[in-house]
Amino acid sequence: MSQKKIGIIGSGLIGRSWAMIFAASGWTVSLYDIEVKQIETALADIKQQLKTLEKEKLLRGNINADQQIALISGSTKLEDTVKNATIIQECVPENLELKIKVWKQVDAIAESTTILSSSTSTFVPSLFSKDLKNKKNIIVSHPVNPPYYVPVIEVVPAPWTDPEVAKKTRAIWEEVGQTPVSLTREIPGFIVNRLQYVLLNEAWDLVKEGVLDVKDIDKVMSEGLGMRYAFLGILETTHLNDHGFVNYCKSYADTIYAVSQDFKAPTKFQGPQVLEIAKQLESDVPLDKLQKRRNWRDLALTKLSQLKKQM
Ligand code: NAD
Repeated sequence: MSQKKIGIIGSGLIGRSWAMIFAASGWTVSLYDIEVKQIETALADIKQQLKTLEKEKLLRGNINADQQIALISGSTKLEDTVKNATIIQECVPENLELKIKVWKQVDAIAESTTILSSSTSTFVPSLFSKDLKNKKNIIVSHPVNPPYYVPVIEVVPAPWTDPEVAKKTRAIWEEVGQTPVSLTREIPGFIVNRLQYVLLNEAWDLVKEGVLDVKDIDKVMSEGLGMRYAFLGILETTHLNDHGFVNYCKSYADTIYAVSQDFKAPTKFQGPQVLEIAKQLESDVPLDKLQKRRNWRDLALTKLSQLKKQM
């Protein structure tokens, strides 16, 4: 079988993660960026991360760090990155004009069989692909940060995406050890953000109503619901909480409906409450300690992903 290649456009936070994930599965990785300095930094950072992961016995895949590093090369020529790629994964900043421009450039040189995949968090794929000649190959593959430890990928087709492309994209994510979920159609916020925003809106309203403070709201997730949700989905949780989902609905449908009637209509996150929530968050994690806390989060997620593999 010929060597599989991924072309990554944009060597920032997410581009680097993709490079490491695909190299771990033995793919050739070509990492393109408009900033030469950024590519150099990305390659050095990837090398250091892979070496550290190997030392701590956390490296993914069946080949060692040096072999993985050898599969990853930087590129300043878009053609070199796009040529012969099975999949292009675009990771440029979240700016619609930029995404439209970059995809137009890639489309002009891509082969008709290459999957054109975007990491975008917020743009449905029809927004940046309607004028592409290869628009049947467009798809969104949206990760949750950090994808090296949080495996879910939302695979989102545009209205004109060939269903075979959606299937092949899902198979690629499975092959490299991620956990794809396939949307049948594009929808604003995809799924991760739709679920996340329901919780965020409710947290915002609870602070506004003065029901409990920021720390206690967060504890409800980190010391409560989140512990379950790390292993079970929302629906399976209900299935286990009663004698199956049918009984759960019989027991709780009225309550869920009554409580849901109490939810407020969404409001924009602006005004003095933004500063109030920020003040409470910063009393625990000041802005100059964010990176330290992110490192702690990544370590915790690493340990959780190890535990999940053992279960
Ligand atoms: P980033 O700012 O860390 O990296 C972006 C990179 O793109 C930079 O290296 C920049 O030099 C490069 N770039 C800019 N213009 C370019 C061009 N024309 N051609 C090639 N490269 C170019 O951004 P990120 O956090 O890695 O995010 C990338 C994408 O991933 C965004 O669409 C974002 O929404 C999505 N995403 C990010 C996260 C996250 O937590 N960071 C999570 C999920 C999805």
